[in-house]
Amino acid sequence: MRLSVLGSAASYPGPGHACAGYLVQTSATSVLLDCGNGVLANLGRVIDPVSLGAVVISHGHIDHFADVFALQAALRYAPSGPVPPLPLYLPPGLFDRMEALLGERGGHELREAFRVHEVEPGVRIDVGDLSIVPHAVDHAQSACAFVVTRGDARLCYTGDTQLGDAVRAAARGAGTLLADATLPEEYAGRAPHMTPAEAGELARDAGAHTLLLTHLWPTVDRDRALVDARERFGGRVIVADEQTVLDID
Ligand SMILES: [Zn+2]
Ligand SMILES: [Zn+2]
Repeated sequence: MRLSVLGSAASYPGPGHACAGYLVQTSATSVLLDCGNGVLANLGRVIDPVSLGAVVISHGHIDHFADVFALQAALRYAPSGPVPPLPLYLPPGLFDRMEALLGERGGHELREAFRVHEVEPGVRIDVGDLSIVPHAVDHAQSACAFVVTRGDARLCYTGDTQLGDAVRAAARGAGTLLADATLPEEYAGRAPHMTPAEAGELARDAGAHTLLLTHLWPTVDRDRALVDARERFGGRVIVADEQTVLDID
């Protein structure tokens, strides 16, 4: 399977950086993990949004779902004409909040565009030949990491989380780890996120061969993030950006 990073920024988009969005594809299936601010512009560089098989949202923070509204418009006005509702998996209650924000007509259009499912920890989501298992993590209410598998290929996307037993359980056995690395060292422990060094520790303990650091504030020093992660992890480390494409097998 192939991972294309569509947004590597935490909290807010910056020059050249969108918020959270990760496209996972096989030859038959395309799934978007998170759809934060700016992701739709980068999605269109890789595929036509109408070709998505599903969108799966990790938690109810804006930097992970804001562009679901934009995606709805892209589906509604697709040149290929009306498209069937796209499966959309979100944390419990989030779709109702989104619908309420739009009012009656907009809410109706949002509901028409998607077939809505709730994400439940441990309940597998099958989309084409991809399988996605949500794992509860320590961040916001109902926040999940996702383990995506196809055959022997195994990717763990941590979503947003602090380091702890929950994310360690999710990451165990994943060859490739796509990890929240929001916090520069001087912010360690001040918010429920990981530092690059903690992401490195997680990758080491999980037995991963490849670590992608992501969810970095647009202002942070990405070279330093790389150095910090390498202090605890001897495998391949990549600082994700909007050009990152990785084949996972
Ligand atoms: Zn976030
Ligand atoms: Zn968050």
